Amino acid sequence: EALYKVNGWGAGYFGINSSGNIVVNVPNAPNTAIPLVDLIDGMRARGKEMPVLLRVQNLLENQIKLINEEFAKAIADSNYQGQYRGVFPIKVNQQAQVIEDIVRFGKPYSHGLEAGSKAELMIALSMLREPGPLIVCNGYKDREFVELGLGMLKLGFKVIFVIETPAELPIIVESSKAMGIRPMIGVRAKLFSHVSGHWNLTSGDKSMFGLNAAQLVDVIDGLKAAEMLDCLQFLHYHLGSQIPNIRDIRTGVREACRYYVELVEEGAPMQYLDLGGGLAVDYDGSRSSAIHSRNYSLEEYCVDVVETIQSVLDEKNIPHPTIVTESGRATVAYSSVLLFDILDVTGFSDAQMPARRENEENAMIQNLHYAYETLTPKTAQESFNDAVYYRDEARDAFMRGHLSLRTRSEVEQIFMSIMAEVAKIAESHPDALSEPELLKTMLADIYYGNFSVFQSLPDAWAIDQIFPVVPLHRLNERPTRNTIVADMTCDSDGKIDRFVEDGEIQRVLPLHEIKLNEPYYLGAFLVGAYQETLGDLHNLLGDTHVVSVYIHEDGSFDFVNEVEGDSVADVLSYVEYQPQNLLAHFRETAERAVRKGTITPAERQRLVNMFEAGLRGYTYYEQ
Ligand code: PLP
Repeated sequence: EALYKVNGWGAGYFGINSSGNIVVNVPNAPNTAIPLVDLIDGMRARGKEMPVLLRVQNLLENQIKLINEEFAKAIADSNYQGQYRGVFPIKVNQQAQVIEDIVRFGKPYSHGLEAGSKAELMIALSMLREPGPLIVCNGYKDREFVELGLGMLKLGFKVIFVIETPAELPIIVESSKAMGIRPMIGVRAKLFSHVSGHWNLTSGDKSMFGLNAAQLVDVIDGLKAAEMLDCLQFLHYHLGSQIPNIRDIRTGVREACRYYVELVEEGAPMQYLDLGGGLAVDYDGSRSSAIHSRNYSLEEYCVDVVETIQSVLDEKNIPHPTIVTESGRATVAYSSVLLFDILDVTGFSDAQMPARRENEENAMIQNLHYAYETLTPKTAQESFNDAVYYRDEARDAFMRGHLSLRTRSEVEQIFMSIMAEVAKIAESHPDALSEPELLKTMLADIYYGNFSVFQSLPDAWAIDQIFPVVPLHRLNERPTRNTIVADMTCDSDGKIDRFVEDGEIQRVLPLHEIKLNEPYYLGAFLVGAYQETLGDLHNLLGDTHVVSVYIHEDGSFDFVNEVEGDSVADVLSYVEYQPQNLLAHFRETAERAVRKGTITPAERQRLVNMFEAGLRGYTYYEQ
């Protein structure tokens, strides 16, 4: 536990049981610690091989409940006069089942949806089914978008058009006049408050989104001129996702309240203040203001938001608005785990030291032997430097054709043996090396996982996002290998090599030695937000299977939904191949070989059958 910090990032949802298995816990149901390896056994018995994206519906249910109940509590405790209304931003996970679950679990709280595009609006309009929750429309809206939203407003749906750019105003004014409907209008303010963290470009002067002060005044004047200021009731802002520092959240709310006050003073019948997203997830378990963490709890977030709004508005005697947040990451991150197995290992730390030859003529080999033989804690850094120098020399000599493959192999083995010895010294003498981390990475084994970083963890590749990656079993054994986890794409970027231990980023992940004929499973946790649709088809590795489970209070569980991952034929058709044509071409090639007598008709049939089975198969490694 100390090593993988499961209790830190697991938020009570994930833990380790006495047999050393990672378990998923359902809050307030003590008998529900289900080992993830049991879920894997259940999936495999149902024909679902790894990798699988597991969705634990209870965790989504609980996050929606927590967000709503913590706001309700903060509101009651501080005698705030408004309400809370959450909306889930569809962009964070558009998958139909996820949205279906959010709508179902959110119903008791009237939890709504945020749409940033036409397609997302259509999801919101059809999935909510009944009027009540808010549908917040951000993003650029054309006439078709606006007319559809207005039509739904007539059915009683609370569709709010948030004006992001002045150009949207005339479309909304004209369409609503033409359709005879009074729209619900919001404005998105561009705050100057700047937040720290990964996604901070959404905040500050350089933010691409929202109206600056002059544009806001133009919109207010435009609404007044159209006699529609009475439709403006909603103020929205968004400072960026994953805001690690509560101080930034408070500063943003305070600035937004100033806008709110001004809009009220301009005469708009304001009712809602929408803070956007930003509620962070503690991916590294450090509970700090580091970018993958957050230095506040959900309770603190809610209390701070409520109290800040209350204090600014009370000064002006302005009624408290309904507080809206668009928390995406914090709502869905916990509920999905990518499960995968390790297929193979390339070890680097077990090099065999070649014996020194008496009449060795190669100076590089002689020097490397010397570096090995004279290694002491005092000379460790020097031997390390020499070894790197001679290894690089050997590589150059090989390139120029002056070194044979066998000699190069010998050089590399001595090099790795020196590194292994230096590593042993560095363990007992922490000051022996100036950059001990470098050595750890050099000696790390490569563990090949049956997954694609590009498909399943795109942010790990694109923006160095940290996700907890942990073995799902054997956690009562000490892991003995330092590793880097590579994926199946054979791309040099297709790896996970940033892990967090005790709040520090490490370049290697300690894992267990693989046992022959025994699967070794890892989980990449907290992957429910943003990863699924940002993923791509690099190397044509497609969508993984998705299995949703619901865990009951007695500890039993149901596989409530299984979605088959992409087949090879599916991914080929995404890049415009016709699988039937490919099969036909292949059959013709094989048939020609029969005609020439290269293969028999029976051999041809076996080949064609293999090709057909390949098209139906999973894009990942099949056992
Ligand atoms: N609202 C808007 C307008 C966004 O752009 C985003 C994403 O960046 C969100 C909400 C969701 O943010 P988060 O996932 O941090 O809750």
